[in-house]
Amino acid sequence: MKTKFWGTRGSISAPSCKELSTIKYGGNTPCVEIIASDGTIVVIDMGTGMRVLGNELMGISPEGEKEKDTSFNTGKGEVSVLLSHFHWDHIQGMPFFKPLYVKGNKVDFYAGEGCEKNLKYQMKKPFFPVELNDTMSSKNYFEFKDGDIINIGCLKVEVRKLDHTDDVYGFRIEDGSKVVTYASDVEHDLNNKGNLMRLARDSDILIYDCQYTYMEYDPESHGQKGMGKRQWGHSIIQEGIKISAEAGVKKLVSFHHSPESGDVKIDDVIKFAEEYKKDFDSKLKIIAAHEGLEIDI
Ligand SMILES: [Zn+2]
Ligand SMILES: [Zn+2]
Repeated sequence: MKTKFWGTRGSISAPSCKELSTIKYGGNTPCVEIIASDGTIVVIDMGTGMRVLGNELMGISPEGEKEKDTSFNTGKGEVSVLLSHFHWDHIQGMPFFKPLYVKGNKVDFYAGEGCEKNLKYQMKKPFFPVELNDTMSSKNYFEFKDGDIINIGCLKVEVRKLDHTDDVYGFRIEDGSKVVTYASDVEHDLNNKGNLMRLARDSDILIYDCQYTYMEYDPESHGQKGMGKRQWGHSIIQEGIKISAEAGVKKLVSFHHSPESGDVKIDDVIKFAEEYKKDFDSKLKIIAAHEGLEIDI
């Protein structure tokens, strides 16, 4: 099973600029592609990274030139989308996903309550000039709920509700004995921590919301004044490490980087995490997700 990262940024896209470099980790919002051992393609979340993924599936260069025939540009492509929730940073890439517009392609959307209604509403005028119904691919909409198991090709997907500012779901994706768990847009230590642990158990990879530093999350614990980002629905790498150690995770991938975290800050957090993990699980591998990252397990 291969995991490819097309967008790793949380909340809003963060193009690199003179004052803040985001070149290394990327500026696009969440989109992760899973390629199963039988070739099944599952896309998790439809942030702005989905546009770039769509171009690759269509054999289109970054400059927009068609380079080769693919199953998706000849109308034979099939893809399933798992949507964690409907926040903008997780859906804005959908209208720019070119395989949607090709007759013969099949796109299955899986999301929580309101799947079909909310995705169609996003592309209604005046928000977007083309309505979802008017795109040429064939589409199916499936609603899931906490505890559901979904079979897609050879993949088994367990769906669990997590804690965020609105309803959000995490996914445990199994390909035989290999496991990738996706838990983005989650705040630790709230109501559904048990669900997070259930999803993460013995995962080869845990993709985890590490949007903030501990200082940003809770300045008072560092003797500073300010509200911090408590109850904003996101987490920190220290919690990712604790959860990984408790759940027996092999590799922790920090994800959903704040738009205000430049490359230097993310590098520093990973350096800090290498020290911090020693008190919990010194064998745990920790990396920060970046656009273009591919992990084969
Ligand atoms: Zn988000
Ligand atoms: Zn969110």
